[in-house]
Parts: sequence; structure tokens; C-alpha cells
Amino acid sequence: AKYVYDFTEGNRNLKDLLGGKGANLAEMTNLGLPVPHGFTITTEACRHYLAEGSVPSGLDQEVAEHLEALEAKMGRKLGQADDPLLVSVRSGAKFSMPGMMETVLNIGLNDESVHGLAKQSGGNDRFAWDSYRRLIQMFGKTVLGLDGDLFEHALDELKGRRQDTDLDSGELQQLVETYKGIVRDQTGKDFPADPREQMRLAVMAVFDSWNAPRAILYRRQERIPADLGTAVNIMAMVFGNYGNDSGTGVAFTRDPGSGQQGIYGDYLQNAQGEDVVAGIRNTIPLEDLEHLDKQSYDELVGIMETLENHYRDLCDIEFTIERGKLWMLQTRVGKRTAAAAFCIATQLVDQGLITMDEAVTRVTGDQLAQLMFPRFDGGADKKKIARGMNASPGAAVGKAVFSSARAVELAEQGEDVILVRRETNPDDLAGMIAAKGILTSRGGKTSHAAVVARGMGKTCVCGAEELEVHTAEQRFVAPGDVVVSEGDVISIDGTTGEVFLGEVPVVDSAVVEYFEGATEPQDDLVKAVDRVMRHADRARRLGVRANADTPEDAARARRFGAQGIGLCRTEHMFLGERRQLVEDLVLASSDAERQAALDALEPLQKSDFIGIFQAMNGAPVTIRLIDPPLHEFLPDIVDLSVKVATGQATDKDRKLLTAVKRLHEQNPMLGLRGVRLGLVIPGLFAMQVRAIAQAAAEVPGAKPEIMIPLVAAVQELESVREEAVKILAEAGVEALIGTMIEVPRAALTAAQIAEAAEFFSFGTNDLTQLAWGFSRDDVEAAFFSHYLDAGIFGVSPFETIDREGVGRLMEIAVREGRSARPDLHLGICGEHGGDPDSVRFCHEIGLDYVSCSPFRIPVARLEAGRAAL
Ligand code: ADP
Ligand code: MG
Ligand code: MG
Repeated sequence: AKYVYDFTEGNRNLKDLLGGKGANLAEMTNLGLPVPHGFTITTEACRHYLAEGSVPSGLDQEVAEHLEALEAKMGRKLGQADDPLLVSVRSGAKFSMPGMMETVLNIGLNDESVHGLAKQSGGNDRFAWDSYRRLIQMFGKTVLGLDGDLFEHALDELKGRRQDTDLDSGELQQLVETYKGIVRDQTGKDFPADPREQMRLAVMAVFDSWNAPRAILYRRQERIPADLGTAVNIMAMVFGNYGNDSGTGVAFTRDPGSGQQGIYGDYLQNAQGEDVVAGIRNTIPLEDLEHLDKQSYDELVGIMETLENHYRDLCDIEFTIERGKLWMLQTRVGKRTAAAAFCIATQLVDQGLITMDEAVTRVTGDQLAQLMFPRFDGGADKKKIARGMNASPGAAVGKAVFSSARAVELAEQGEDVILVRRETNPDDLAGMIAAKGILTSRGGKTSHAAVVARGMGKTCVCGAEELEVHTAEQRFVAPGDVVVSEGDVISIDGTTGEVFLGEVPVVDSAVVEYFEGATEPQDDLVKAVDRVMRHADRARRLGVRANADTPEDAARARRFGAQGIGLCRTEHMFLGERRQLVEDLVLASSDAERQAALDALEPLQKSDFIGIFQAMNGAPVTIRLIDPPLHEFLPDIVDLSVKVATGQATDKDRKLLTAVKRLHEQNPMLGLRGVRLGLVIPGLFAMQVRAIAQAAAEVPGAKPEIMIPLVAAVQELESVREEAVKILAEAGVEALIGTMIEVPRAALTAAQIAEAAEFFSFGTNDLTQLAWGFSRDDVEAAFFSHYLDAGIFGVSPFETIDREGVGRLMEIAVREGRSARPDLHLGICGEHGGDPDSVRFCHEIGLDYVSCSPFRIPVARLEAGRAAL
């Protein structure tokens, strides 16, 4: 294999092999931009090194050849005593992992070549010694694994209140001696003077940095595969620390916050590498470079335009100016906020750089979802007291409380509360449910608090480490001795991770107002969203339906673009005052009593369905017959027992207690529910079907679809179907009859089940529970964060369809179902229907539609469009 590529040999499509940095350095080189010469060691070499513990044979030879070629181009040799070539050794993985891995600058300096460097730079001793001390500092920390603070402290001590640029060459020389002493003390060896040895060790340190704990954590959070490895870039040094005619900077080709075009960036004179972002001195805005060095500035602006036109996207850039000469050191397609993503995508269309098809693929459903959360009023006065991780988006305001019990207590009194904890554990669940938002001082995006909050769609800021949380004293302390005690109001922003003191006003998202049809697109963002959504709708093949149980939800779903209802649950139609009738049904001791209870329920159900059919105005409505175990509709067993024990029970209470005890199940989710109820309680399903039929007969254009839950065997479905067909015929109403596929056995016998079903709808919540053997209500809080931390799965299977397991069951059901009945209509109604990755999967396996909660419909429309492009 070839393990080393000169920058002139690569290009931007080789990110797998050369990493993002290497591929883009090659691309810029080929564009003729001023990039220092260099070469890239492939990720393949890194993978070999990490797996075998040694570099692949032939690598050393290849590196030596490329180094010689580099030396020839530069006319000097690495570390040559009288005129040294210096290089940087830079990490660079396929996906950018900012600051996670290592880079060493100024390789090639030692006690001799430092004099050569000084001489060649016209006697700029200060610059030479500054470069040397930087090498020992970076090498010590990165390659030798020493504590960076040791060097920082020595530097701080020497400079006192001065800035690093105030140190003269004598002092810097002295600092080099101190640094060499630190290396000797800490490692028992001298700082390696041999330039080739320095380079070899640095390359291996970069390989090793792939498995540094923070890199592992970052990959897990960003869902970057763990086995890619990093490339290593070796590049001739250019010097921004030469003096005031030199410097280093970073820039964006447009504003990554808003997408606006302009000059965005920071510049620092007489500085090297990380100085700009490390905040050692105050940077100047990039525009001001125009006054310092107009020629370099103009060249830079021109290059930025070249890069935008070439990459056809926002780019970020690292550059250095050495004595008035501009050098490009890095570029990549830059990260941006959700709002900027939409604006940039449509701007690029208007500039003629990309098509609308491409624009749709450049934004994501997650970004759209972020734009739909309520947010804090941008113009409001805010007192920010801390920042943590943006674990679960949204804007929440409430009184700080420090225990789950207090959260529940105050919430019951109608107060809005924010639950503040060091970290949460499963015992906090009740408080998390009661709170408007959750704030923790420890833990990352996969901590218990973060995982559970995201699952509940609740605003959460986690890992706000600046806060000292004193649970026992019911207060926390923020930097600057700001004390927040129980009852003090705070505001947390789960989209940015910010924490504010006091109440920050919350405003509805402009994007939601637009979807609601309340506003014509006005501001640029809403206009951009509008254009992208229209195009996604034209492109998508998947239909999008809503899970909606009430006329209000149905109406909102239609406004958001739903083409029908994919899941209308009927459970709530048995609650409230109607509980009475359900009790009568359960207690009935004769057929006549049972029929009387059902007869009383029927007109009520009918009017519910009329409302929904009207709201949907001729679009299909899939109605699921009653699904949960009956005991859910009866009084609580403990309450009843207490009543009986204290002699306060009526006759009926006593009968109910007996019935509740009879219906009690160890595992209700696996018990008497779904189609099983319909088969065991005569007349129940028939009553529901009759109510549907009669409602449909009264609403012109109504399109009911009757869905039987929890079917595992075709025989279950057949008998329900036979009865339903008869009732529909009597009413003169047409309706599809189908089933949910939510029990693994149903997926595996789909060909048989399709004989009796005109449609399948994947109930992926239950299908996931049953495929994994996880009780969803119990496991998420109990151990999912542990599973996520341990990498057993990268994302909860209740959030994104587990393609390998649950997804395979779905594929089998699609294939076998369609082979038995070619016009079988296929959809999904589990919560996965609104999850971006899962929507894509549904497109790939050929479903006809996805159904999701009304609020997620725009996300599903967008993702369905992206999947089709
Ligand atoms: P990161 O991936 O963390 O940004 P980089 O490899 O980009 O790390 O390097 C860190 C800093 O050093 C950057 O500011 C970069 O521009 C600078 N740098 C890297 N190589 C050179 C070089 N050959 N000459 C001058 N500066 C360099
Ligand atoms: Mg960089
Ligand atoms: Mg179910």
C-alpha cells in the first residue's frame, strides 16, 4: 500500500484516506493557493499502528523519501544546523474533532539549529528562541505527555504582568533552559535533539491521540465511528511570530451564526498557531488587517471568494502572514447554526452555486426541529450566570428547586420549577417530569439527565461546571458569588446551554408561526425555510401523516402539512366521565348488562370520530381499536383497598376491587390488551367499528381505516376482520382493514398476516420493546445512560430505529407482506416516524408513509425529501 501522499497528489474527495485537513490542504494546493509544501501520512497507516502497535513496514522508508523531496523543494534540511527546515506535525481525522487531537509546531529545532534559524532570519534571535520554547512546550505536553501547566507556570512566572511579546531573546533563551529542565525532571531524559527523532515521535503521538479519552468521548457524542483513525500532516513551517509584520488568524467566508455574507474573523500580530483561539492576547477583528497589511488582506479576501465558489459552501480558514507574505494553513466546510444553515443554503442557490436539490440536502431535520422550539426573546435583558452543555433544546423558566420531591410539590401547587442537581439519577425521575427544565453541574450529553430529558422532550442544560450545587443547603453558587436559593427564578436555554438569573421572556418560534399559517414568510430565515420545505415536498416519495387523537390535534397536523392520520388512538375516548361506563362493562354479569354498557358508549365514540373526520376533510384517518389493558380504566387498586379497609366502600367499590384484582397482571404490557381484548370481551371491537362506520356515513368524504393492534397471528386478525367487514357492509361504508406490526411474530409471519390485512403500520415502540425485551417505561431511566456510556448503542433504540435488529424485522415484513399482497399499504406510527434517521430508513425499505406527532411533521417532510434526493 501507499501510505504517504504529497499535497500535490491528494484532493478533497480523499477524506477517508487523508483526513479532512490533509484532503483540503491538497485541494488548496491544486487550486494554486499559497500553501506551504508538505505531505500526508494516511489514516490507513494509523489504523495499522493502532491495531498492531507498530507502524506498517515501508512507512519509514516512504516518509524518508517524502521528507527528502520536501527538503529539496525548500533547499534546506530538517533541523540543518546553519539553516534549518522546520515542520509541523498535525493530526487530521476524516471528521473534524476540534481541539481533540494533537499538533506540534517547529519540529527540527535544537541547541544548534536555533542559532541557524536566528542567523537566517537576519539576526532575529528573539524569534528563534520563541520558536524553540514553543517546540519544547508543545512537544512536552503532546508527545511526552507532561502536564501543560508546568510550562504555563514557568512562562507566567517569567513574564509577570507583561505579555509574551514583551519577553526579549535573553529571557526566552532562559525559558528554554527552564523548559528543558522540566523535561529532564519529569521524564528522566533530555529533550530529544535529533530532528528526525522529534518527527518520528510526534507522528506516533498524533496516532495515539486518536484514543485519548477526550477524543473517545467526543466521538461518542458526535456519533463518529471509533475505528477511522487519523491522518498525519507534515508541513513546512511558516512563521507568524516573526515580528509585527507577521501574525496568524482564523476566518469564515460568511457569518456562521446568521449566514450573512461579509468578513468574519480574528487576527493576532506576532503570534503562532493556537495563540488566536487560546486567548493569550486580545485579537483584532479581521477587517482591521486591511490597515496593517493591505496587500495580504486583499489577497486573503480574494482567496476566501475562490474557496466559497470552489466548495460552494461556507468555509472556515486558518492563515498565517510571515513578513507580509500570506500562507493558507487549513480550510474546511465550516460548522454553522441551524438558522445559518437554512439561510446559507438558499443564498447559495441565488448565487447560482448550488441547485435547490442540493440546498435541501444541506439542511437537516434536527436543524429544523431546533428552529421550532420556543426561544428566549433575543432583545430581552439577560444576566447570564453560567454555561453548560446544550443537552436538550428549548427555553425554560422557573423557580430553582434542589430535590425531586420539592419539584413535585411545587409543581402540584401550579409553580413552574427548574430542577437543579449536581447530576440526576433514576430517583429524580418524578421531579424531572414535574419540572419545566433540568440543570446539572456534572455530566455530558449522554448523562442520565441529558438522555432522560431528551426522551421527554424537556429542556435540559447539563454539565454547567462553573456552578457549585449544594443540594443539602438548597442553593447553588455561580461565578462572581452569585447565590441562587430555592425559589429564586432562573432561566435555562437548552439550545445554547446558557443559564440566566431571573425570568427571561420566552417567544414562540417564528418558524412555528409560519407553519401554523399565521404569518406570511417575512424574515430571511422563514423565507429560506419556506423555500426548502416546498422543494422537499416536491421531491419526497414518502407520505407524511400525523399521530392525532383529537380534532384539535388533527387540525394542527393538517396545518403542518399532514396528509392524513396514521394513528388515532381511541383510549382517551374511555376516560373522564366515561369511566363509569367502562366500569359497568367490566362488572357486567350478563350479556344484557354488557350490551347495555356498550350501547351507551357507542354514540359517544361516534361523535368523537365525526369531529376527527371533519377536521381531516377527506384525508385518510387510521383508527386503532382499543389497545391498553382494561385495568388502566379502572380505579387504582390501592385506593380501592383503602376504601374497603376503612369501611368507606360502596357495594360497587367492593365489586370493582374484586374485578381489579382479577384483572391484575404482572406484566400488563404483555397481558390482556390489543386484539386479545377484542377477542375476549364480546362486542367491544364491534361497538367501535359500528361507531366508526356510522360516523363515516355522516361525514361526506370521510376515509376511515381500521387498525387492529398487537396482532401476532393471522388467526387473531381473521375473526376480528370477519365481524368488521359485516358491520361496514351493513352501514354501506368502505374502509381498509389492517393491522399494526408490533410483535416480532407478526413481522416474521407477515405473508400470512397480509392475507387478512390491507395495510400494515409498524408500531415501532412496541416492536422495539419486544425485540429487545426492554420495558420502555423502566429501562430508559434505569440503565440507558450506562448503555450509552458503555457504547452498547450509540443512540437509544427508542429514539432511532435499530436497523440491525428491529429494522431487519421490518424489512422482512415489508418483503413478505408485499409478496403476498402487492398493493399492501405500508406505514409506521411509532415515535420513530418523526426521527430523521428513521425516516430515511423508512424511505429506504419502501414504506408508503411515516406518521408522527403533529409537531414533528415538518421534520418528517424535510427528511423524507432529503432521503429522496
Ligand atoms: P487543530 O486541528 O487543533 O486546529 P492544527 O493542526 O490546525 O490543529 O494546528 C494548530 C495551529 O498551528 C493552527 O493555528 C495552525 O494554523 C498552526 N499551524 C499548523 N501547521 C503550521 C505550519 N506549518 N506553519 C505555521 N502554523 C502552523
Ligand atoms: Mg486547525
Ligand atoms: Mg403498541
